[in-house]
Parts: sequence; structure tokens; C-alpha cells
Amino acid sequence: MSYILSLDQGTTSSRAILYDQNAKPIQVAQKEFKQLFPQPGWVEHNAEEIWQSQESVMNEVVGKLDKNESIAAIGITNQRETTVIWNRSSGKPIYNAIVWQDRRTASYCEELQKAGHGQTITTKTGLLLDAYFSATKIKWLLDNVEGARKKADNGELAFGTIDSWLVWNLTKGKKHITDVTNASRTMLFNIHTLKWDTELLELFDIPANILPQVKSSSEYYVDAELAHSSIPICGIAGDQQAALFGQMCIENEMAKCTYGTGCFLVMNTGKTPIRSNNKLLTTIAWQIGNEVTYALEGSVFIGGAIIQWLRDGLKLFEKASESEVYAKSVNDSGGVVFVPALTGLGAPHWDSSARGSIFGLTRGTGIPHIARAALESITFQVNDVLDTMSKDIGKPVSELRVDGGATANNLLMQLQADISNIPVSRPKNLETTALGAAYLAGLAISLWDMESLESKWGEDKKFIPEANSTKREELLKNWQKAIDRSKNWLD
Ligand code: ADP
Repeated sequence: MSYILSLDQGTTSSRAILYDQNAKPIQVAQKEFKQLFPQPGWVEHNAEEIWQSQESVMNEVVGKLDKNESIAAIGITNQRETTVIWNRSSGKPIYNAIVWQDRRTASYCEELQKAGHGQTITTKTGLLLDAYFSATKIKWLLDNVEGARKKADNGELAFGTIDSWLVWNLTKGKKHITDVTNASRTMLFNIHTLKWDTELLELFDIPANILPQVKSSSEYYVDAELAHSSIPICGIAGDQQAALFGQMCIENEMAKCTYGTGCFLVMNTGKTPIRSNNKLLTTIAWQIGNEVTYALEGSVFIGGAIIQWLRDGLKLFEKASESEVYAKSVNDSGGVVFVPALTGLGAPHWDSSARGSIFGLTRGTGIPHIARAALESITFQVNDVLDTMSKDIGKPVSELRVDGGATANNLLMQLQADISNIPVSRPKNLETTALGAAYLAGLAISLWDMESLESKWGEDKKFIPEANSTKREELLKNWQKAIDRSKNWLD
């Protein structure tokens, strides 16, 4: 029996999952690592700790195999945009990894925006000029770590997103590569020509020699050197793209939403990159062979986290799942509307000065109404992104596949179907990110083909829209009113 090993390097933990030939997970190991907050708005990880945590979970699952069992291929998926620069000869990072959430380069991004560079960046990369992406993080490292710029100019340094960093370590420094999905999150990669963009490299003052070679998402790249064996690495994709593939959203206009801390929507738009007129990101979904598939993406900052806040911040209940019990005990929110803009608003509003608010409180308002309004608020936000996607593609989104921790909440899923007036489909296997990376690796070694993968996607439950349109319109009207009043809260 041979297996596929998926390495899922996330923002808070590293995981390794072994899949059998039927893509069933048979071993899982997970290890958290430290989040570093050296200054307000700064978020860092120790890149060596990331590698050690990933290596240890990998060894743990591999160690559970019998002698006659082997691993046929490795697939890698990772937190995106997080930036590492290391020394090519020692393999040591020159500084901590700067995490995607880090805002230290926000004012530099504003300067670039004022200088009129936003449009060029969006046209070439599909992204919105923002500190979120790797480019300004790389520049910060080169400008602020002593001696870094000189070493970079001498060809002594390598930059990578976390996938590159893992491959470098898995191969003991033999390969410096990334895949198109990760490259497309750096703000340096031209998603149309599929090349690092010289003009952008000049703008950010980044020497081309530090960049990894860009590969497709599914091919034999190189052998990983494990303690007692070498295993081919055959799949790489950023976490949201891997989830889209794990959900088998392989046809044009199929969309998935991951309901975790935030909500991440990605829609397959086929062979053409669709330019959003409404502040969504255009990105590469994957490249298989020579064929590139594009996607539209929109993220909601606070999704399941609002339930966490009711639980831990307000102590309204002890378990996240109780939000469903409370919310179900009433027929509606009693006119309460919750805007969970605790950290501002993401797509499509993009308002960093918005703050959270609860409207429509009366003396009759109780925990059940607040819980229901909080769940509704998740669905309103997802609906705003879906609406925006519909505008960009010129027709309604027809179905949504869902995953992530909060999809355990059946009421939340039903509310989503009702508010968005589309069927919401929850698969049996909710670990779509790791699964997507395994699929990409399994495809490359012909363990599976597209047809067999499609047949593996199994539905657990479909939520069909039930609400009448008057009720829906009234809810959406109130949401619009509430969100307008929450915007621009900070001066
Ligand atoms: P992440 O990967 O972002 O850490 P997960 O996919 O593990 O997130 O999902 C955890 C989030 O989902 C938490 O914010 C939690 O509050 C929320 N959540 C978990 N279970 C439920 C539930 N039954 N109802 C509503 N929200 C839930």
C-alpha cells in the first residue's frame, strides 16, 4: 500500500496528514507554534520553528507506517503571503518570518497609492496594493536587517513564501522553488505572463536573484530527503487555492467558502482572469500541466470569530456550538442586527476604520436574539462577497460549497442558503485544504485522474433556500442600514 503525505503549514499550527489510495485520511498529527507580536500591528513567526514543527509532525505520521508501506508523493499547502528571507549558504533565516497579518508596511503602501501605483499593481498582479502581500515585507527586510541589501545584491540571500521555505528544508537546500498560486500572492508576479515582473521588482527595489523559480501546482519537483527515504514532492498550492481544489470546484463559476476565524470565498473563473470592478482579488487557482485556472477571491475578516467573542469576550455561552441552540430557540433576531466589524471590514467594503456594532436592541432582547443576529451577520457578510462575485461575472453564483469549523452549525448553513438564495453544500470531508494538496500530488504521479477525484467528493448535507423573498429583502435592507452606520467609525 502506498500513501500520499500532505503537509499543511497554517498560520497557527503545522499539520501532516497521510491519505490512502482512496484519499481517506489515515494518520494526522498537528503541532502549534508561537505567534510573535513584537509591536502593535506586527506579527511574526520564527521560520525555524515553523520548519521544526512541520518536520516533527511529518516524522510522527511517517513513523506510524509499517515497513512494507511507503509514501508515493508529498503535497504541500501553506499560509500564504508570509515572507521568509534566508541565507543560501547557511540556510538560516536573516529575520523572523513576517506574517500575512502584519501591518508594518501599511504607510509605505499608502505612499505608493498616493503616488499612483495602485492601478499598475492591480493590472499586473490582480491584487489590491496592500501590506498583506509579500512585496513590501521583502522590501522591509532588505531595508531594515543589517547588511541584508548588500548580501542580496551579492546573491547570498533567498526569499520564499512558506512553501519555498519547506521545500528548501525538505531538500537540504537543493531546490529554491514555489508554485504559481503562492507566487500570485507576492504582488511581484504577473498573473498574465506568469513571470516575475521586472517593473514591479524595480518599484519595490527587490533584486530578481532572491526569487524562487516558479512551477506549476502539480508536477514532480524534486525528492524530499527524509531520515530513511526520499519521497517525491509533487504538489504545491496556497491554502485557499488548495481548499478550492479539495472541494473539487474545478468547473468555471464553482465557488467555495471556508468558515473559520474569517470567511474565505474563492470562485473558479476558468482560463480567463476576471478583473473585479468591486475590490475582489484576481488570483491563480492552480496550474496543472500548461493550463492555468484563475479565481476571484474575497475575504471576510471576522466570521466564526464573532461566536468566539460572544463565548470568550462576553461569556454568553461556554461552547461555540451553543450559539446554534440559543439562536434556534427564537424564530428571528427580534430586529437585532449585528455588524461584526471588530477589526474593520474586508471585501467588498474594505473599511479599516469601521468598528463592530449591535443595532435594534429593545428590552425584550436576550442572548438568543444576539446569538441569532451574530450568526446572521456571518451570512450577510458572505452574501455581500457572493453578490460582488455575481456582479463581476455578470450572473448569480449558482451553488456554494462550504468547509471550516463553523460549518458544523446547521442553522448557520441554512441561514446562508436563505439569505443568499442558493443551495449550500457541505461535503463529508471538511479537511479540504490538506486534501487539495494531496489531490495535486496524487494527480502528478497518476495515482488519480480528474474523474476519479471528482467522484471522491461526497456530500454530507445540502441546505436548500427556504426563506420567502419579502423576509429576505427586509433582512438585507436592515443589514445595509446597519453596515452603513458602522463604516468610518474611527476618525
Ligand atoms: P481556523 O482554522 O480559522 O482556526 P476553524 O476552521 O477551526 O478556524 O473554525 C473555528 C471557528 O469556528 C471559531 O472562530 C469558532 O468560534 C467557530 N465555530 C466553531 N464551531 C462553531 C459552531 N458550532 N457554530 C458557530 N461557530 C463555530
